[in-house]
Amino acid sequence: MDYKIPRGTYDILPQQSYKWQKVIDAFRKIAAVCGYQEITTPVFEQASLFERSSGESSDVVKKEMYRFQDQKGREFALRPEGTAPVVRSYVENRLDLGGSNTKLFYIGPMFRYDRPQAGRYRQFYQYGIEFIGSDNPYFDAEVISILWNYLTGLGLRRLRLELNSVGCPQCSTAYDTALRNYFQPSLADLCPDCQLRFGQKPRRLLDCKVPSCKQIAAYAPSQLEYLDDACKVHFSAVQDNLGLMQIPFTINPRIVRGLDYYTNTAFEIVYEGLGAQNSLAGGGRYNGLIEQIGGKSIPAIGFAGGFERLLLALDEEEVELGAPGVPDVYVITLGEAAQKLVLPYLNALRGAGIYAEFDPDKASFKAQLKAADHSQARFALIVGEDEVAANQVTLKNLQSGEQQTLPLEPSDRIIQLLKA
Ligand code: AMP
Repeated sequence: MDYKIPRGTYDILPQQSYKWQKVIDAFRKIAAVCGYQEITTPVFEQASLFERSSGESSDVVKKEMYRFQDQKGREFALRPEGTAPVVRSYVENRLDLGGSNTKLFYIGPMFRYDRPQAGRYRQFYQYGIEFIGSDNPYFDAEVISILWNYLTGLGLRRLRLELNSVGCPQCSTAYDTALRNYFQPSLADLCPDCQLRFGQKPRRLLDCKVPSCKQIAAYAPSQLEYLDDACKVHFSAVQDNLGLMQIPFTINPRIVRGLDYYTNTAFEIVYEGLGAQNSLAGGGRYNGLIEQIGGKSIPAIGFAGGFERLLLALDEEEVELGAPGVPDVYVITLGEAAQKLVLPYLNALRGAGIYAEFDPDKASFKAQLKAADHSQARFALIVGEDEVAANQVTLKNLQSGEQQTLPLEPSDRIIQLLKA
């Protein structure tokens, strides 16, 4: 029987792993210098958590969620996104009672039953930030700046930060009414999904990809015209803060975000070199979500981005992410006595953090030297018959060809030379 990987998933093969490590490490680093701590939640949660937070009519919940029942008939879902689980944990662990700001980040796989294509998978890895505790527009800018600095720090240049405000629930209600008035005359021409959206969340009409719906939506009123005074002041302060941080942005009133829980600031970072799936990351404020999930009423803001599209963008921009590790030293032996001499060494070297390769299956000296060259190791540590007789090892610099003989004990000297 031929086993195949499930559609919409992929293996991260060894020769790509170093790139993943690099972008993951960089994210951990930038989150740490801004005071964010990592949180890890399970990959599955009660399905109702997502229905409650993302909205039962959202595409994610309606069409894309992997649901299953456990042996006792309880309804679970593989998490389609990271914010609701983080907020669930925040509330469950009483972090909302502390009274101070909470700065969290996460990294992990998410699952959506989506139509697979380049940059769109059914299991994908997200990195995300959640700032919980304040409505101060400084924190909107802080969260956005982390994302911006992360992506530009990795070397991406063709980025566009798009910013919008979706207002508070009051402004949203006014806007929904305006949208219904706008779409009402064309209702019969909208796709079946949009006809449902019209009744439920008319803002989702703006997100539809069906060409005829896009055409109808082209002149829809803008959310920004329906912001109340407080939301206008907040939005303008976010822009001022971004300006002071010298982060360039454009206003895009069409950014609605797919999930129900967003309030005020909404943003997306688009990479101009990718095709249809050009959104690298997105996020926004969710001032009502914590209360909705059973906690206190506490404002919050966050974002999530996908590593797959990030790596595609880095490839597209030909950013070098270094290379897979090469050995510091390749150990070469000839004969059984040499191998016995060298094993304690090998162990000491690795214990000291030196990357040492050894392959006793390669019997001949020539084959081992060839393998050492091939591995691009900086040094070869050679123990042949002569070395065994003299209780010595030869350390050869494979780049310069220079070599020196060293007494077999102690290994500290070799460790020093290799670490230099
Ligand atoms: P969202 O949670 O839908 O706002 O998505 C945030 C980011 O996650 C997007 O900008 C993408 O980078 C990534 N993403 C979302 N869905 C997928 C998917 N199906 N496959 C790969 N990446 C995704």
